[in-house]
Amino acid sequence: MNRKQLIVLGVCVALCLLVGIGLWQTSHDLRYTRINLVTHPKGIMGTTCTIAAIVDSAERDKAEKAMKNAEDIIRYLEFKLSTWLENSEISRLNHSGKSRLSNSTRNVVNMAKEAAVYTHGAFDATCSPLIRLWREAEEENRVPSPRQIAHAREASNWESFTITKTAMQKNHSTASLDLGGIAKGFAIDKALNMLRQEKIHGGLVDIGGDLACYRKENIEGTWAVGIQDPFGKGTIASLGLRNGAVCTSGNYERFFTIQGKRYSHIIDPRTGYPAEITPSVTVIAPLAAHADVWATALSVTGKDGFDFLPKTIHSMVIEGTKEKPSFHQTPGFRDYLVKPLNTK
Ligand code: ADP
Ligand code: MG
Repeated sequence: MNRKQLIVLGVCVALCLLVGIGLWQTSHDLRYTRINLVTHPKGIMGTTCTIAAIVDSAERDKAEKAMKNAEDIIRYLEFKLSTWLENSEISRLNHSGKSRLSNSTRNVVNMAKEAAVYTHGAFDATCSPLIRLWREAEEENRVPSPRQIAHAREASNWESFTITKTAMQKNHSTASLDLGGIAKGFAIDKALNMLRQEKIHGGLVDIGGDLACYRKENIEGTWAVGIQDPFGKGTIASLGLRNGAVCTSGNYERFFTIQGKRYSHIIDPRTGYPAEITPSVTVIAPLAAHADVWATALSVTGKDGFDFLPKTIHSMVIEGTKEKPSFHQTPGFRDYLVKPLNTK
């Protein structure tokens, strides 16, 4: 065989290989149908929950197992972190002054501690004595006195706690911790990781309207996320997201009412008083834990907090009233809007 014949043979072999691979891929794709699986586990964090996965039909069992793992990790984290459950590690710390820390709890606590620094004190999980004071005030229908507020503020800082690798303790008897502004986001991230670990093509975890999602490169399109109108029914904006998290804090659902006046359920740790009512704050971030933190922090600061936002985090803050609303968006937020804001 001469050189020319060898080259021709080489090209033929290469072509056959390419056609072969092409045919194998086509038949490979034909064997699988892509399906969307969705579950709505009940009794999670006192709110609704949705777990969704995009999978090949042949991998249904594997995907269902991963979705169950996602649900289990949320329940596990709630069991460790909730202040509504007496035996959680955080409740034990609050009631008895010390608690053993599991790895997960230690991670959330450390994330919450860092958040107090990068939000310049707008997010502070140690402001629990103030949250309790305002909750009691609602029950008794009277605004707390300046003295009561000053007293509750005394222990509302991170110096009131010592954290070691395996345990945490209070240094101040009136100190207490409330991870309500980060636990949901943290749990969403961990649950989504359960789907990623099993190499599921796409996944979404939503707890009470806060969510994180992903789509691998082979899956086209985006996840559609609606943002509720804080002044009425329906949605005010629609976002399209391939990877990342969206969390919303709104005063339209949760607030304290004292002597007929509405107060935000979010406390401004810097003053001890409820934050000014910010009807709605939406945050898009790579991680739900960060989106959750920033949604609470921006509810305290309003749009002025945009100055502190890292570049990877985008937000829309709606201020004002139904009659006179004002909409504020960071430049990056607009890139996620699938149609212009429905501001009527
Ligand atoms: P939602 O539960 O509606 O998502 P948030 O994510 O904004 O609300 O979290 C609000 C919860 O965070 C409150 O119920 C309380 O437990 C806690 N919290 C309130 N104010 C603050 C604050 N300034 N910093 C950290 N946590 C807070
Ligand atoms: Mg939140």
